Amino acid sequence: MNGHIFGPVPSRRLGRSLGIDMVPFKTCTYDCVYCQLGHTTCKTTDRKEWTPLEGVLAELEEHLPTTADYVTLSGSGEPTLHSRIGEAIDRIKGMTDVPVAVLTNGSLLWQAELRRELAGADLVIPSLDAGSPSTFEQVNCPHEDISFERLLDGLATFRGEFRGPYWLEVFLITGVTTSNAEVERLVRCVDRIGPDRVQLNTVTRPPAELGLAPVSRDLLDRLAGRFHPPAEVIAAHHDGWEETGSAGGQREVLDLLRRRPCTLDDVAHGLGMHRNEVVKHLESLAVAEQVRFTCIEGRWYYVAIR
Ligand code: SF4
Repeated sequence: MNGHIFGPVPSRRLGRSLGIDMVPFKTCTYDCVYCQLGHTTCKTTDRKEWTPLEGVLAELEEHLPTTADYVTLSGSGEPTLHSRIGEAIDRIKGMTDVPVAVLTNGSLLWQAELRRELAGADLVIPSLDAGSPSTFEQVNCPHEDISFERLLDGLATFRGEFRGPYWLEVFLITGVTTSNAEVERLVRCVDRIGPDRVQLNTVTRPPAELGLAPVSRDLLDRLAGRFHPPAEVIAAHHDGWEETGSAGGQREVLDLLRRRPCTLDDVAHGLGMHRNEVVKHLESLAVAEQVRFTCIEGRWYYVAIR
């Protein structure tokens, strides 16, 4: 089955990123309140060959050579749930000189075997969204196997072992993780982990839960200085960056939404695009105030602003 490769899509951190979906849609260890893909339908810690690796690599072959800056294992769920991720990294590196990045929520890094499998990656970007167990439960809604201490221990142990660049993403939500006390706890956790870079993000895409408020650029800039090393702000506030994306695809999405409101899946199926590519376009259009999202009877619809 095809549909595991998407892009290259523009990424603030990675330039042009050729994405690889390693697990089925919304198969994840978390059910984050801010997830732009909606609620997790398969919450699990089972590491197995969720998608046949041979098929994924055969599909990748069709996209090579590529002008992408990174081949990125990420997608619509948690990529480290794939039991052959280490082999995937090694074989991709044998197929292309483009560096391989892994975007992960970091929740399984307490497993020594997984840490060994990720050793061959050129860049790993785990995330940490909370400074305390209660906030972790509130924001990430983790699988019961994953405690906050287990998460932190995995993130810190991996830092000690991984020789490549390690960037830690911290996702902040107004009123949830922006209090002085919570930020202080987050700073202490980040100190314990010791990443090469800290990157602050906030809600810019349609979140799973209603009513989540983004953190303003101004506040993110101020909070950035409290981290060590000082954090970079990677949230997509309206700064014109997104216009460097694939204008053709974005125009098609906007044209469709001008005809009728659509869900993420409607757009993906209607235009034959990967969901993650659609999310990128919707994010750009939302930042440019050309679309908004609205919840009708429990479903998210995207609507063009005329
Ligand atoms: S944001 Fe990432 S880690 Fe959180 S539920 Fe969505 S896919 Fe999983």
